[in-house]
Amino acid sequence: MSRARLIGSLKYRNLRYAQNHPLRIPRVSLLLEFLRALSLIEEEELVESRPATPEEILLFHSRDYLEALREADRSGRVPPGARERFNIGSYENPVSPATFRGSLLATGSSVQAVELFLEGFAPFNPAGGMHHAFRDRANGFCFINDPVIALEVLRSRGFKRILYIDLDAHHCDGVQSAYYETDEVFTFSLHQSPDFSFPFRSGFLHERGRGKGEGYTLNVPLPPGVTDDEFLFLLEGTLPRIAEFFDPEVYVVQLGTDALLEDPLSRLYLSNRGLLEAFRLVREILGEGIYLGGGGYNPVALVRAWTLIWCEISGREPPRRITPQAEGVLRSVGWENPREEVDEEPLYRTLQDSWRGSGVRDEIRKLAVELKALCYS
Ligand SMILES: [Zn+2]
Repeated sequence: MSRARLIGSLKYRNLRYAQNHPLRIPRVSLLLEFLRALSLIEEEELVESRPATPEEILLFHSRDYLEALREADRSGRVPPGARERFNIGSYENPVSPATFRGSLLATGSSVQAVELFLEGFAPFNPAGGMHHAFRDRANGFCFINDPVIALEVLRSRGFKRILYIDLDAHHCDGVQSAYYETDEVFTFSLHQSPDFSFPFRSGFLHERGRGKGEGYTLNVPLPPGVTDDEFLFLLEGTLPRIAEFFDPEVYVVQLGTDALLEDPLSRLYLSNRGLLEAFRLVREILGEGIYLGGGGYNPVALVRAWTLIWCEISGREPPRRITPQAEGVLRSVGWENPREEVDEEPLYRTLQDSWRGSGVRDEIRKLAVELKALCYS
């Protein structure tokens, strides 16, 4: 049996976001059902998620903020002043069972991922990767920053050179700000340019860290329409140099699926094969790491992509076709993509998309030249 471990739970079914929120969709529970329907996971490979402890949350977040989250969960309402002070209770970050209980479970799972990794396993926590949350402020659908807490657990175990890689369509502003002034965590992110995409204020090329942290942040801001060819071209041009310069002892990678063409909130054109190749490249260069989920607002595209990621981690050959039973799992969601130009039908029949790309545009080559100059040449 493989050393791969998937940390998940069917409990997420009942810990959903508020009505009409983009994260209202099933994700982890759907992934588990889909993997089972395709016989792609053994029970021994599945680790039940456990909630994070207050001590773990306080490795990054403030006590006042933790109390506000707890109070919101207890009352089901926005605590007085919490919207202004902590950004809880907005349309973006509503009060729901996901706010506290869902976030605790996702975060405990990221700590479990670290622990399993240190025991020699290859762990994947698809509920993790909530990279936008700040120390005392909810942001971008994220309440508790589980990547930062995972990184803090690694630091508490004595690691001094930790690489954080973020493949989500959005800049990891919460993680970057936590490590902007340290040389112990290198933050590397490819994402839609903040010129046109959330979080708008950060994720630019010129942000390289400050003080001791100068040179330990690298952002790759992407224009709309980036394809597999272009994404891989940029990753191949940067990651080997970072690995050489930083020589990480351990790494965490955030595997949001919102860079896929089918995602309703983003404007990148990746296929799930492109995302898989990016993940393979990361493992080829850096070896085994700690794997977290992330954004992704099309549940069908998300589950297909993370199934490929899981097959890669666990050394399985992904099936070419989706069986009728597994197709039924996907159709049970009743998903309708607000992006009407996307043809969803093929997503229900086959697991792998065709490769997307027809070469590399000039503006991407120009970006690569700029990155090369920044990449310690
Ligand atoms: Zn995202």
